[in-house]
This record gives sequence, structure tokens and C-alpha cells, in this order.
Amino acid sequence: MEKIPVARQNSEEIDKFLDGAASFADMMFGFFDGSNESEESLRDFVDRDESANGDEDEQNKIFWEAQEELLQATLHRTTSLESRIRQATKEALSELKVIGMQCACRRPVAGGCRNCLQTALSIRLQNVGLNCYICKSKWRSSSEIPSGEHTYIEVLDKSNPKKGEVRVIIELNFRAEFEMARANEDYNKLIAQIPELLVIKAERLKALIKILCGAAKKSMKEKKMHLAPWRKHKYMQAKWLGTYERATPAPLPVGYSDRPQKPKASMLTFDLLEKLPGLHYTAVEVV
Ligand SMILES: [Zn+2]
Repeated sequence: MEKIPVARQNSEEIDKFLDGAASFADMMFGFFDGSNESEESLRDFVDRDESANGDEDEQNKIFWEAQEELLQATLHRTTSLESRIRQATKEALSELKVIGMQCACRRPVAGGCRNCLQTALSIRLQNVGLNCYICKSKWRSSSEIPSGEHTYIEVLDKSNPKKGEVRVIIELNFRAEFEMARANEDYNKLIAQIPELLVIKAERLKALIKILCGAAKKSMKEKKMHLAPWRKHKYMQAKWLGTYERATPAPLPVGYSDRPQKPKASMLTFDLLEKLPGLHYTAVEVV
């Protein structure tokens, strides 16, 4: 069978396309991914048939209530470090809104595209003394998930020598990453509780992703549909918690104007100025 690349896996179009076309989607993306999911769902189906519907409703209710509690507990366990970075991020974003964020890229979008916004934001966060980077994660396809890449912002805090380096992730469109057109009501209710702008320590993000992906899987199971491969736990983990490359956003030099700059200090500065907002990445291995 011909292989069809899945370029923009999380696009709404795909969701719409998949609506009511689950069997075709199975063929297209090979949802039967080597795990025993098909067997599992068959077994579940038999189990469901045998048990009374009331029991199942009750079990579902218990599941969703537990997820809500877990989610709230995870979201509320925020630290002063995260609050400080969140506050700085909100301030920088509202400043950018006031001055009217403009794209510096070749494909400008009104109000700034995600890439330009991330660059502008991280420069501002650097200017207020935060150790801020732009991260690009990239992963290969496997039997379970398709390949993909993602960019986001991170702040590395080294202020507490006892704790070592603390990684805080800033995701501008977190909720959107988990919205599913075909999800059930319980899932939608859960997702509505997560913020669009997420500022969170990596370890807490790990817990949050686990809850949300578990909920997505359950939601699809209840609707007797397959979870798309780009919704899977492994795929979501690869976005923010997998191996990535780190780039330092180039701060605009003092007295920067729109006139072309002549290379001064070093070739590195020149290079960064020339290519802004194209960034230079260095690889970071995540264990
Ligand atoms: Zn742009």
C-alpha cells in the first residue's frame, strides 16, 4: 500500500477529515500499531457486552472525576519560580500586544506568527534576566508514532545550587495541542481547565501530559474510535520532553535601528543579526 506522509499531524483539517472515517483512517495511518490495541478493544467490546451498562457509566464517571482531581492537583502544585516566570511572560506578551507585534519572517502573519512571537518573547525574557532559549524538538517515526518536530521556549534556572539546573517550559498554545474535534464531553470539560499559556517545570509537565493523554485515549475508547497516532503519549512526550536543540535568541543590539547594520564585534553577532529570526541551534541530549 502506498505510504502517505503525515506532515501536519495536529491540524484541525485532519480531525475533520477523520470524522466518521475511522476505518479509512485505520488503513491510511496504520492505527494497528503492533501493540495489542485491536485485540484489547475487541476484548473490551466483549466485556462491555456482558456487563450492565450502568456499571460502565459508573466506572466512566469515576475515571473522569479522578482525572479532574489529578489535573487540578498537578496544575496547583506551582512553585514561586514558575509563578515568577509566568508573570514575566504575561507582562512581555502584553507589551508585545501594545506595541503591535510584527513578523520578521518571510511569511508574515497579522499579530506575529508563532515563531516570530516566540523569538520576540524570549528576547524580552532575556532582557529581564531570565536564562531563556528557543528549543526545537525533532523525532523520527517509529512503529507507534509518526515523525515530527516542535518548537517552544525554555528557561533554565540555576539560582538554587542545591537543585541544580531547573528547566521551565513556556508553551504559548498548550490547550490547542490537546483539543480534539471528536472527543467526548468529559474530555472537553477536562481540557477546558488547562491554560492556553502554560509555564511549567519539565517534571510537572511530564505528569500533566500523562493525565491528558490517558484522558484522550479513554475518550476515544468510549466513542469506539482509535486514538490518532499524533495524540499518543509517546508523541506528546517527544514534543517537549524528548531530545531537542537549543538556540539563544539574538538580543537586538543597543541603538538598533532599521538601517542595515555593519558587522562589528564578532562574526557570530553578525551572523545572528543577519539571520534573525532564523536561529542557530545546538543539540541537547535528554536522558
Ligand atoms: Zn513570522
